Amino acid sequence: MKRREIFAGNWKMYKTHSDAVETIKSLIAGFTAGSERELVIFTPAPYARDCAAASQGSKLAVGMQNMYFEDEGAFTGEVSPLMVKDCGCRYVLIGHSERRHVFGETDADTNMKMKAAIKHGIEPMLCVGELLEEREKGVTADVIQRQVKEAFKDVSREDAAKAVIAYEPVWAIGTGKVATPEIAEEVHSSIRKMIENIYDAELASVMPILYGGSVKPDNIEGLFEKENIDGVLVGGASLKADSFLSIVNI
Ligand code: PEP
Repeated sequence: MKRREIFAGNWKMYKTHSDAVETIKSLIAGFTAGSERELVIFTPAPYARDCAAASQGSKLAVGMQNMYFEDEGAFTGEVSPLMVKDCGCRYVLIGHSERRHVFGETDADTNMKMKAAIKHGIEPMLCVGELLEEREKGVTADVIQRQVKEAFKDVSREDAAKAVIAYEPVWAIGTGKVATPEIAEEVHSSIRKMIENIYDAELASVMPILYGGSVKPDNIEGLFEKENIDGVLVGGASLKADSFLSIVNI
């Protein structure tokens, strides 16, 4: 079964406005991969609108790194799904490990955000992943199972079909310690099984599952050749157009 290939960059809280827009233009100009591959950049919120405008009519889509689940209200500092949409974003990251572990986002939050994104026509990219101590204790599968189950709680099959999952082991994010292709593949195939158990084999077979965690130009090939790895979510190596292009154009 041929699945969508998604190569996404997460710029976190880096870049100036002009660098952001220029990098978007350089990525569009240098993206040579075939039409089956999608390129996505999760920009800092204040730059999303201009980055989306710069990507109009191209193969690059812009996403927001986080959002709140309410449409509007007295929620100082938060960004609503309506605002995400209004900025021209196609995707939103949900449950990134920095949201979970720096800002205390819970599985219940990811579930509310997932539903809010789908309700507003924004494609959710759900991030899941275990901490180093959880891997060492041998509870990786339980942690991922809980994160996936809770995020998709009361989400219909039709709505779940709009989601993308990114497996990002927390011990590999920003540390330079990439998971081996074998470790990543094992978790990816178990996530696909979880989707099959929650929904069905057909949905599981088409849902894109990306790997994230210290992906670099020199390790992308081994990861991407694995059967259940449909793309990547890249932090540090997505900041410079040259390094990200050598990942997305493989
Ligand atoms: C990320 O921010 O999602 C990420 C995977 O970061 P890095 O590639 O820098 O590990």
